[in-house]
Amino acid sequence: MKQEPSHIVEIAIPLYLDRIFHYRVPELLRDQTLSGRRALVPFGNRKLTGYILGAAAESAIVNLKEIIELLDPEPLWTAKELEFYRWSAAYYQHPLGEVLRTALPAGINIQTRKGGAGVQESLSGGKSARREKFYLPAPQTDPPRQPSAKALEILGVIREAGGISAAELRKRFGTCTPQLRRLVELRLCRSEEREVYRDPFKNYTVKRDEPRRLHTHQKAALDAISAALDDRHFTPFLLYGVTGSGKTEVYLQAISHALQLGNNALVLVPEIALTPQLTGRFQARFGGGIAILHSGLSDGERYDEWRRIRRGLARIVIGARSAIFAPLEKIGIIIVDEEHEASFKQSDGLRYNARDLALVRGSMEHASVVLGSATPMVTSIHAAGEGRLKLLPLPERVEGRPMPVVERVAMKGNRETISVPLSNSLAETLAEKRQAIVFLNRRGFATFLVCTDCGKALTCPNCSVSLTFHRQRGESLCHYCDFSVPAPGTCPSCGGSTLSELGAGTEKLEHDLKELLPTARIVRMDSDTTSGKGSHERLLSRMHDGSADLLVGTQMIAKGHDFPEVTLVGVVNAEASLGMPDFRAAERTFQLLSQVIGRAGRGENPGRVVVQAIDPEQYAIRAAAEHDAAGFYEQELEFRRDAGYPPFTYLAAFAISGLSEQTVSDQADTTARLLAQLKSALKIRVEILGPAPSPIYRLRNRYRRQILLKAVNRGDLHRLLSTWRQQSTVVSTVRISVDIDPVDMM
Ligand code: ADP
Ligand code: ZN
Repeated sequence: MKQEPSHIVEIAIPLYLDRIFHYRVPELLRDQTLSGRRALVPFGNRKLTGYILGAAAESAIVNLKEIIELLDPEPLWTAKELEFYRWSAAYYQHPLGEVLRTALPAGINIQTRKGGAGVQESLSGGKSARREKFYLPAPQTDPPRQPSAKALEILGVIREAGGISAAELRKRFGTCTPQLRRLVELRLCRSEEREVYRDPFKNYTVKRDEPRRLHTHQKAALDAISAALDDRHFTPFLLYGVTGSGKTEVYLQAISHALQLGNNALVLVPEIALTPQLTGRFQARFGGGIAILHSGLSDGERYDEWRRIRRGLARIVIGARSAIFAPLEKIGIIIVDEEHEASFKQSDGLRYNARDLALVRGSMEHASVVLGSATPMVTSIHAAGEGRLKLLPLPERVEGRPMPVVERVAMKGNRETISVPLSNSLAETLAEKRQAIVFLNRRGFATFLVCTDCGKALTCPNCSVSLTFHRQRGESLCHYCDFSVPAPGTCPSCGGSTLSELGAGTEKLEHDLKELLPTARIVRMDSDTTSGKGSHERLLSRMHDGSADLLVGTQMIAKGHDFPEVTLVGVVNAEASLGMPDFRAAERTFQLLSQVIGRAGRGENPGRVVVQAIDPEQYAIRAAAEHDAAGFYEQELEFRRDAGYPPFTYLAAFAISGLSEQTVSDQADTTARLLAQLKSALKIRVEILGPAPSPIYRLRNRYRRQILLKAVNRGDLHRLLSTWRQQSTVVSTVRISVDIDPVDMM
């Protein structure tokens, strides 16, 4: 029997299954909007949460199962959002149910418990917002009896506030339950339960500020964005402005324009940039109505923010990459700040890139998308050259502050961490009572411990990497799996007791700087010193309030911070990031060095920089030091064209891993063979490279191989991948993941 189409819905289940399922809608639920809501459905002998996508055209299945119950009183997603998720699932070759699960805040995803009595689920989802008792003034003016003096005092506060929580009253008056009860009895006030959203801003108070008068380039940029906002046409921009050129000011005024038009704003920033400093700037300009999404939030806080956005209580959403899935409607503008940052790419599960998805969501919403950077991606520069991104240049620093003067020091044959020119400059800067930054993109004391007897380096037993020596912790540590042994210790190969330290990290740098500059007040910032809650801000505040002279750190210190008193920047081992087996190594090095160099001279006093490198003539290092971005991009694009890398090709990377080296190797071969067969059957042009061992060929005990696909035509690549997904068989002990547009190829 053919069923009535509208009584059947399509449901995505969050499992690694490439299918959408059909379910029958019970009589009682048929008059409601179902799409975008979660439903409990029978699945095999389990009951699972599924996401209703919409009505199914019809179903060939005869005994269709029925939805057990709806789990949300209202839809979680709009039809437009569902369309965006469908697009993302297809593009990243990921099951739609998993995409939808990823898009929801952790606090809402229901744990399904299997078992006899059935499933325990709550309608409102996992963690809900706190409810608190509030007291409000009541209109009673002539009470039959007068309350006590303390009760009258409390009433005064309630009237003044117009409504105040019981917790707040207890803070001011101590125990006051009897008085409150009395006031309610006398109908002088009433109480109600209110939902309280946990407020990530509650510890910060911010002064309001006014829009700055824009300089010429800023004004041209804002005018272009404003015109696009007025048109409500999808327009992608590249705001290319050196550090300190006033990009954030342009964002703020563009957002203000979007809000005036009645639209909302989504702002994506790298996780590390989500500091109170940045969010404070938005607060100072716009006051309330801002939602913040970052990894420091508890599940409950995140869920609260999500619901505030869903209910239209926030008009500006600022967040790290996952904020691209924020349930914000009427998006007029999407900003992606520091668009070149690798952290916009999710490295497991749904391997999406929030920067790329910003363009997709922006086009679906007819929004303007502003990609901002001082060092845009090579691919963005190329796209701007072809007119696919509208270029908005901010070539000068605010108030004409000069770019710092950079000196390069060749370190070939020099084994010291700090060269004479750098050490002299540091001494001078401190004598002038100014501040300095010294940057080294490696943490720990020594990146290698090598046995002087047998010559072997200490390596991780679980991963094919060397252990880093951390002197303060007294440990040699694997930075990938956290394996550790007491250090310095003895050589595990020959028992030798002399281990020599090679390759300095930030801990060693701090140690050497202390010896060199005994009176300097030094702050070190790397993931070892910033693991505690709030430690990041505490360390930075020492630079801001002048209680530290010298900031030493990894790439954590390279970005976003504005220290007006820093006039000197030192870079130790500028090629640390060049050695990576990755076609983006030069690009990353150029970006990182440019960012670090840009930390100098942001205030009134001009800055200078000393860059130490084995080969200071390497083109990425030279270009960064000479502020020659155009030269770098030109040379790098030439290399990409010759070698056949993005933007001239599209990539997909297969990662094959498992505990048995042989099984992994066999599976990798099978996979590559199938890909080659499908390629010739489909008659498409895709280059298949590998299988080859991954650069880190063993990680957390798993052996790893990779296959890289390259195509000039994106359609070819996607046809091959989706055909492969339908036909592939994978041994159960091996995991295969496919990464579209991979960023990290380690
Ligand atoms: P970027 O985001 O490009 O690094 P910012 O927007 O943070 O630059 O600007 C750098 C500094 O200059 C900030 O302190 C900012 O308040 C200030 N600034 C920005 N635009 C102007 C302007 N038009 N006039 C005066 N000061 C400005
Ligand atoms: Zn390890």
